[in-house]
Amino acid sequence: MRNAEIASQSHRGAPAMHVARPRRRRPTAPAQAASNSTAAAPPFRLASRQEGQATTVVMAGDVAIGAGTLVVIAGPCSVESRQQIRETARRVKAAGAHMLRGGAYKPRTSPYEFQGLGEKALQWLAEAREASGLPVVTEVLSLEDVDMVADYADMLQVGARNMQNYALLRRLATAPKPVLLKRGPAATIREWLLAAEYLLSGGNPNVVLCERGIRTFETATRNTLDLAGVALVKELSHLPVLVDPSHGTGQRRLVPPASRAAAAIGADGLIIEVHPCPDEAWSDGDQSLDPVQFGMLMNDLRGMTAA
Ligand code: PEP
Ligand code: MN
Repeated sequence: MRNAEIASQSHRGAPAMHVARPRRRRPTAPAQAASNSTAAAPPFRLASRQEGQATTVVMAGDVAIGAGTLVVIAGPCSVESRQQIRETARRVKAAGAHMLRGGAYKPRTSPYEFQGLGEKALQWLAEAREASGLPVVTEVLSLEDVDMVADYADMLQVGARNMQNYALLRRLATAPKPVLLKRGPAATIREWLLAAEYLLSGGNPNVVLCERGIRTFETATRNTLDLAGVALVKELSHLPVLVDPSHGTGQRRLVPPASRAAAAIGADGLIIEVHPCPDEAWSDGDQSLDPVQFGMLMNDLRGMTAA
Protein backbone atom coordinates (compact mmCIF):
# COMPACT_ATOMS: atom_id res chain seq x y z
CA MET A 1 0.00 0.00 0.00
CA ARG A 2 2.77 2.36 0.88
CA ASN A 3 4.51 1.66 -2.42
CA ALA A 4 1.28 2.35 -4.25
CA GLU A 5 0.82 5.61 -2.36
CA ILE A 6 4.36 6.69 -3.10
CA ALA A 7 3.89 5.79 -6.75
CA SER A 8 0.64 7.72 -7.07
CA GLN A 9 2.09 10.71 -5.22
CA SER A 10 5.05 11.01 -7.54
CA HIS A 11 2.69 10.65 -10.45
CA ARG A 12 0.43 13.42 -9.18
CA GLY A 13 3.42 15.57 -8.26
CA ALA A 14 4.90 15.43 -11.78
CA PRO A 15 4.62 18.80 -13.53
CA ALA A 16 2.02 18.80 -16.32
CA MET A 17 4.55 19.85 -18.94
CA HIS A 18 7.17 17.37 -17.85
CA VAL A 19 8.30 15.31 -20.79
CA ALA A 20 10.03 12.46 -19.01
CA ARG A 21 7.75 9.95 -20.70
CA PRO A 22 9.70 6.81 -19.95
CA ARG A 23 9.38 7.43 -16.21
CA ARG A 24 5.62 8.03 -16.47
CA ARG A 25 5.07 4.96 -18.52
CA ARG A 26 6.99 2.63 -16.25
CA PRO A 27 4.20 1.42 -13.91
CA THR A 28 1.98 -0.29 -16.44
CA ALA A 29 -1.50 -1.24 -15.29
CA PRO A 30 -0.88 -4.99 -14.76
CA ALA A 31 2.38 -4.40 -12.90
CA GLN A 32 0.67 -1.90 -10.62
CA ALA A 33 -2.18 -4.29 -9.90
CA ALA A 34 0.29 -7.03 -9.06
CA SER A 35 2.28 -4.85 -6.68
CA ASN A 36 -0.95 -3.68 -5.00
CA SER A 37 -2.12 -7.18 -4.35
CA THR A 38 1.27 -8.14 -2.88
CA ALA A 39 1.17 -5.13 -0.59
CA ALA A 40 -2.35 -5.96 0.59
CA ALA A 41 -1.31 -9.40 1.87
CA PRO A 42 0.34 -9.25 5.31
CA PRO A 43 4.09 -9.58 4.80
CA PHE A 44 4.32 -11.58 8.04
CA ARG A 45 2.28 -14.61 7.05
CA LEU A 46 3.01 -16.83 10.01
CA ALA A 47 3.15 -14.16 12.72
CA SER A 48 -0.17 -12.56 11.71
CA ARG A 49 -3.24 -13.03 13.86
CA GLN A 50 -6.10 -14.39 11.78
CA GLU A 51 -9.59 -13.23 12.63
CA GLY A 52 -10.70 -14.91 15.86
CA GLN A 53 -7.30 -16.56 16.40
CA ALA A 54 -6.26 -16.90 20.05
CA THR A 55 -2.88 -15.78 21.34
CA THR A 56 -0.32 -18.54 20.96
CA VAL A 57 0.77 -20.06 24.24
CA VAL A 58 4.53 -20.54 24.45
CA MET A 59 5.91 -22.85 27.13
CA ALA A 60 9.17 -21.84 28.78
CA GLY A 61 9.91 -24.77 31.06
CA ASP A 62 6.60 -25.23 32.85
CA VAL A 63 5.55 -21.57 32.51
CA ALA A 64 2.85 -20.76 29.95
CA ILE A 65 3.34 -17.38 28.27
CA GLY A 66 0.29 -15.99 26.49
CA ALA A 67 -2.27 -18.02 28.42
CA GLY A 68 -3.93 -15.03 30.08
CA THR A 69 -1.86 -14.78 33.27
CA LEU A 70 0.64 -11.91 33.40
CA VAL A 71 4.01 -13.70 33.41
CA VAL A 72 6.71 -11.88 35.34
CA ILE A 73 10.38 -12.61 34.62
CA ALA A 74 12.84 -11.05 37.05
CA GLY A 75 16.55 -11.08 37.75
CA PRO A 76 19.77 -9.16 37.33
CA CYS A 77 21.01 -7.63 34.10
CA SER A 78 24.19 -9.72 34.48
CA VAL A 79 24.98 -12.85 36.42
CA GLU A 80 27.84 -11.76 38.68
CA SER A 81 28.35 -14.66 41.08
CA ARG A 82 26.78 -17.92 42.21
CA GLN A 83 25.62 -16.22 45.39
CA GLN A 84 24.15 -13.18 43.58
CA ILE A 85 21.99 -15.19 41.17
CA ARG A 86 20.92 -17.71 43.79
CA GLU A 87 19.92 -14.95 46.21
CA THR A 88 18.07 -13.04 43.50
CA ALA A 89 16.20 -16.16 42.40
CA ARG A 90 15.13 -16.86 45.97
CA ARG A 91 13.91 -13.30 46.56
CA VAL A 92 12.03 -12.85 43.26
CA LYS A 93 10.45 -16.27 43.63
CA ALA A 94 9.25 -15.32 47.13
CA ALA A 95 7.74 -12.15 45.66
CA GLY A 96 5.83 -14.15 43.03
CA ALA A 97 8.01 -14.05 39.88
CA HIS A 98 7.42 -16.87 37.40
CA MET A 99 10.82 -16.97 35.68
CA LEU A 100 14.43 -15.92 36.28
CA ARG A 101 16.50 -13.75 33.96
CA GLY A 102 20.25 -13.04 34.01
CA GLY A 103 22.85 -12.29 31.35
CA ALA A 104 25.87 -14.53 30.81
CA TYR A 105 26.82 -12.93 27.48
CA LYS A 106 26.30 -9.19 27.52
CA PRO A 107 25.97 -6.96 24.44
CA ARG A 108 27.67 -3.82 25.75
CA THR A 109 27.98 -0.56 23.89
CA SER A 110 31.66 -0.32 24.83
CA PRO A 111 34.14 -3.18 24.52
CA TYR A 112 35.72 -1.95 27.77
CA GLU A 113 32.58 -2.66 29.78
CA PHE A 114 31.82 -5.96 31.54
CA GLN A 115 30.99 -8.55 28.89
CA GLY A 116 29.49 -11.33 31.02
CA LEU A 117 30.95 -14.42 32.68
CA GLY A 118 29.98 -16.86 29.91
CA GLU A 119 29.50 -20.55 30.60
CA LYS A 120 30.24 -20.23 34.32
CA ALA A 121 27.27 -17.86 34.58
CA LEU A 122 25.11 -20.35 32.66
CA GLN A 123 26.00 -23.04 35.20
CA TRP A 124 25.06 -20.75 38.10
CA LEU A 125 21.79 -19.88 36.37
CA ALA A 126 20.99 -23.59 36.02
CA GLU A 127 21.80 -24.11 39.71
CA ALA A 128 19.54 -21.20 40.64
CA ARG A 129 16.79 -22.81 38.58
CA GLU A 130 17.20 -26.08 40.46
CA ALA A 131 17.11 -24.29 43.80
CA SER A 132 14.16 -21.99 43.03
CA GLY A 133 12.15 -23.92 40.48
CA LEU A 134 12.10 -20.85 38.20
CA PRO A 135 12.74 -21.48 34.48
CA VAL A 136 15.58 -19.39 33.09
CA VAL A 137 15.88 -16.99 30.16
CA THR A 138 19.27 -15.70 29.06
CA GLU A 139 20.68 -13.98 26.00
CA VAL A 140 22.54 -15.78 23.24
CA LEU A 141 24.82 -13.33 21.49
CA SER A 142 26.38 -15.36 18.75
CA LEU A 143 25.90 -18.34 16.49
CA GLU A 144 28.64 -20.45 18.03
CA ASP A 145 27.06 -20.22 21.51
CA VAL A 146 23.56 -21.36 20.53
CA ASP A 147 23.98 -25.05 21.38
CA MET A 148 25.62 -24.38 24.71
CA VAL A 149 23.14 -21.71 25.83
CA ALA A 150 20.24 -23.93 24.72
CA ASP A 151 21.64 -26.73 26.93
CA TYR A 152 21.36 -24.55 30.04
CA ALA A 153 18.42 -22.19 29.42
CA ASP A 154 14.66 -22.69 29.12
CA MET A 155 14.26 -19.73 26.76
CA LEU A 156 16.82 -17.99 24.53
CA GLN A 157 16.84 -14.20 24.40
CA VAL A 158 17.72 -12.39 21.20
CA GLY A 159 18.86 -8.98 22.37
CA ALA A 160 17.66 -5.76 20.81
CA ARG A 161 20.96 -5.24 19.00
CA ASN A 162 20.66 -8.66 17.36
CA MET A 163 17.05 -8.44 16.19
CA GLN A 164 18.19 -8.18 12.60
CA ASN A 165 21.06 -10.67 12.84
CA TYR A 166 19.46 -12.94 10.29
CA ALA A 167 22.12 -15.65 10.53
CA LEU A 168 21.43 -15.92 14.28
CA LEU A 169 17.66 -15.93 13.70
CA ARG A 170 17.97 -18.71 11.11
CA ARG A 171 20.04 -20.77 13.53
CA LEU A 172 17.60 -20.19 16.40
CA ALA A 173 14.77 -21.30 14.14
CA THR A 174 16.11 -24.82 14.55
CA ALA A 175 16.98 -24.55 18.26
CA PRO A 176 15.04 -26.80 20.65
CA LYS A 177 14.04 -23.90 22.91
CA PRO A 178 11.59 -20.97 22.71
CA VAL A 179 12.97 -17.57 21.71
CA LEU A 180 12.37 -14.20 23.35
CA LEU A 181 12.78 -11.72 20.49
CA LYS A 182 13.47 -8.20 21.66
CA ARG A 183 12.55 -5.31 19.42
CA GLY A 184 15.54 -3.51 17.93
CA PRO A 185 16.08 0.03 19.23
CA ALA A 186 15.41 1.42 15.75
CA ALA A 187 13.14 -1.29 14.37
CA THR A 188 9.69 -0.62 13.02
CA ILE A 189 6.90 -2.97 14.03
CA ARG A 190 6.97 -4.41 10.51
CA GLU A 191 10.70 -5.17 10.78
CA TRP A 192 10.19 -6.70 14.22
CA LEU A 193 7.43 -9.01 13.00
CA LEU A 194 9.47 -9.94 9.95
CA ALA A 195 12.34 -10.88 12.27
CA ALA A 196 9.87 -13.14 14.10
CA GLU A 197 8.92 -14.52 10.70
CA TYR A 198 12.52 -15.77 10.25
CA LEU A 199 12.12 -17.90 13.38
CA LEU A 200 8.63 -19.13 12.53
CA SER A 201 9.29 -19.91 8.88
CA GLY A 202 12.54 -21.63 9.81
CA GLY A 203 10.68 -24.07 12.04
CA ASN A 204 10.49 -22.63 15.56
CA PRO A 205 6.87 -21.84 16.48
CA ASN A 206 7.77 -20.82 20.03
CA VAL A 207 8.41 -17.11 19.70
CA VAL A 208 7.70 -14.45 22.33
CA LEU A 209 8.05 -10.78 21.39
CA CYS A 210 9.45 -8.16 23.77
CA GLU A 211 9.07 -4.39 23.53
CA ARG A 212 12.04 -2.79 25.30
CA GLY A 213 11.91 0.80 24.13
CA ILE A 214 13.02 2.41 20.92
CA ARG A 215 15.36 5.28 20.17
CA THR A 216 13.63 8.60 19.59
CA PHE A 217 14.63 12.28 19.90
CA GLU A 218 13.92 11.99 23.64
CA THR A 219 16.96 11.56 25.85
CA ALA A 220 15.36 12.08 29.29
CA THR A 221 14.52 8.38 29.38
CA ARG A 222 17.01 5.75 28.18
CA ASN A 223 14.59 4.61 25.46
CA THR A 224 10.99 5.44 24.57
CA LEU A 225 8.73 2.59 25.66
CA ASP A 226 6.27 2.08 22.81
CA LEU A 227 3.22 0.83 24.69
CA ALA A 228 0.81 1.80 21.92
CA GLY A 229 2.99 -0.40 19.71
CA VAL A 230 2.37 -3.28 22.12
CA ALA A 231 -1.40 -2.84 21.77
CA LEU A 232 -0.99 -2.75 17.98
CA VAL A 233 1.25 -5.81 17.84
CA LYS A 234 -1.25 -7.71 19.98
CA GLU A 235 -3.81 -6.96 17.25
CA LEU A 236 -1.51 -7.76 14.35
CA SER A 237 0.07 -10.92 15.72
CA HIS A 238 -0.95 -14.02 17.68
CA LEU A 239 2.46 -14.17 19.36
CA PRO A 240 2.64 -13.28 23.06
CA VAL A 241 4.19 -9.88 23.80
CA LEU A 242 6.24 -8.99 26.87
CA VAL A 243 7.36 -5.55 27.99
CA ASP A 244 10.76 -4.68 29.44
CA PRO A 245 10.21 -1.55 31.55
CA SER A 246 13.84 -1.59 32.77
CA HIS A 247 15.55 -0.95 29.43
CA GLY A 248 12.41 0.89 28.30
CA THR A 249 12.90 3.63 30.89
CA GLY A 250 16.47 3.31 32.20
CA GLN A 251 15.36 4.63 35.60
CA ARG A 252 14.40 2.56 38.63
CA ARG A 253 11.69 5.03 39.70
CA LEU A 254 9.89 4.68 36.38
CA VAL A 255 9.88 0.88 36.32
CA PRO A 256 6.77 0.37 38.53
CA PRO A 257 4.50 2.85 36.69
CA ALA A 258 5.69 1.58 33.29
CA SER A 259 5.04 -2.01 34.43
CA ARG A 260 1.51 -1.18 35.55
CA ALA A 261 0.85 0.61 32.26
CA ALA A 262 2.16 -2.38 30.28
CA ALA A 263 -0.13 -4.74 32.19
CA ALA A 264 -3.08 -2.40 31.63
CA ILE A 265 -2.46 -2.15 27.89
CA GLY A 266 -2.55 -5.91 27.45
CA ALA A 267 1.04 -7.18 27.62
CA ASP A 268 1.30 -10.92 28.28
CA GLY A 269 4.12 -10.38 30.73
CA LEU A 270 7.04 -8.31 31.97
CA ILE A 271 10.80 -8.81 32.14
CA ILE A 272 12.23 -6.72 34.97
CA GLU A 273 15.79 -6.22 36.19
CA VAL A 274 16.15 -6.96 39.90
CA HIS A 275 19.44 -6.98 41.81
CA PRO A 276 20.03 -7.74 45.50
CA CYS A 277 21.98 -4.48 45.74
CA PRO A 278 21.37 -2.36 42.61
CA ASP A 279 23.91 0.31 43.49
CA GLU A 280 26.63 -2.32 43.28
CA ALA A 281 25.43 -3.96 40.06
CA TRP A 282 28.05 -4.55 37.36
CA SER A 283 25.57 -3.43 34.68
CA ASP A 284 22.29 -1.51 34.55
CA GLY A 285 22.11 -0.80 38.29
CA ASP A 286 20.29 2.51 37.69
CA GLN A 287 17.32 0.72 36.21
CA SER A 288 17.31 -2.28 38.57
CA LEU A 289 14.85 -2.69 41.44
CA ASP A 290 15.92 -4.17 44.74
CA PRO A 291 13.94 -7.19 45.95
CA VAL A 292 11.77 -5.10 48.29
CA GLN A 293 10.79 -2.70 45.52
CA PHE A 294 10.09 -5.67 43.27
CA GLY A 295 7.86 -7.20 45.95
CA MET A 296 5.87 -3.96 46.17
CA LEU A 297 5.44 -3.88 42.41
CA MET A 298 4.22 -7.49 42.42
CA ASN A 299 1.61 -6.54 45.02
CA ASP A 300 0.46 -3.63 42.82
CA LEU A 301 0.20 -5.94 39.80
CA ARG A 302 -1.78 -8.52 41.76
CA GLY A 303 -4.12 -5.75 42.87
CA MET A 304 -4.66 -4.72 39.26
CA THR A 305 -5.46 -8.19 38.00
CA ALA A 306 -7.74 -8.90 40.97
CA ALA A 307 -9.65 -5.65 40.39
C1 PEP B 1 19.25 -7.06 28.67
O1 PEP B 1 18.17 -7.68 28.71
O2 PEP B 1 20.03 -6.93 29.65
C2 PEP B 1 19.60 -6.36 27.42
C3 PEP B 1 20.85 -6.13 27.07
O3 PEP B 1 18.50 -5.98 26.74
P1 PEP B 1 18.37 -5.26 25.30
O4 PEP B 1 18.89 -6.23 24.31
O5 PEP B 1 16.91 -5.01 25.20
O6 PEP B 1 19.17 -3.98 25.36
MN1 MN C 1 20.37 -4.87 31.12
